[in-house]
Amino acid sequence: MNVKMQLIDTHVHLNFEVFQQDFASVRSRWQEAGVVHLVHSCVSPSEFSSIQAIAARVPELSFAVGLHPLDASEWDVDTSKQITELATSDSKVVALGEMGLDFYKADNYEQQLLVFEAQLEIATDLNLPVIIHCRDAAPKLKEVLRHWKNLKGERLRGVMHCWGGTPEETQWFMDLGFYISFSGTVTFKNAKDIQASCKIVSPERLLIETDCPFLAPHPKRGTKRNEPSYVRYVAEHVSALRSEAIEVIAAQTTQNACQLFGLTL
Ligand SMILES: [Zn+2]
Repeated sequence: MNVKMQLIDTHVHLNFEVFQQDFASVRSRWQEAGVVHLVHSCVSPSEFSSIQAIAARVPELSFAVGLHPLDASEWDVDTSKQITELATSDSKVVALGEMGLDFYKADNYEQQLLVFEAQLEIATDLNLPVIIHCRDAAPKLKEVLRHWKNLKGERLRGVMHCWGGTPEETQWFMDLGFYISFSGTVTFKNAKDIQASCKIVSPERLLIETDCPFLAPHPKRGTKRNEPSYVRYVAEHVSALRSEAIEVIAAQTTQNACQLFGLTL
């Protein structure tokens, strides 16, 4: 691998128990793999302190704050204030999320919508990008984002993370100005829709991520724990799908991540 190649893993969960034991070696492996920056996602305000602590000791890591749709029941009168306070007091906060809609097996549609829109409001007020989680909910998500785009214009921007949609759905979100991020799922043999989507994303909208510790990419699929260094397998696969050199994919996705999250390397 070209030592000069720089990659950004735009979606990690390193505060999980599975990384406690050997964090230092996980970190040296991502450094060796060329991962120069990571964006830590957040599923619940209960994680704020653990994520903030990691960001404080890892200079190449910034983070998001938000509430995941599957945890929407955690939302209460203070949540909006808590999110705003952390987002405005810690300079390492670069986004709000992950937020969105997850209708797979869920029965709390109304609450998910309420919590999603409350966070879109904070993000556009603070002019921060959003990290969107979307599962079995693309049509509704498009409708909500369209509404907020009309309301807030350029202040609404963000990424469809761990993207699993069809090319048609991909186009909806690109038309709304969103970035599209591919994870290990793009490397899975049967992921025909995801691979077809990956081919049509415009170069200036393409991002990569691991979503670790979940969804380890091929050839690490089946290993218990995904980790940031494996983002290079995602980059390799994206490069093969798009028939472009991995150096080109690395340069594009790194530049895009810097653009969206306002990072300087
Ligand atoms: Zn995530």
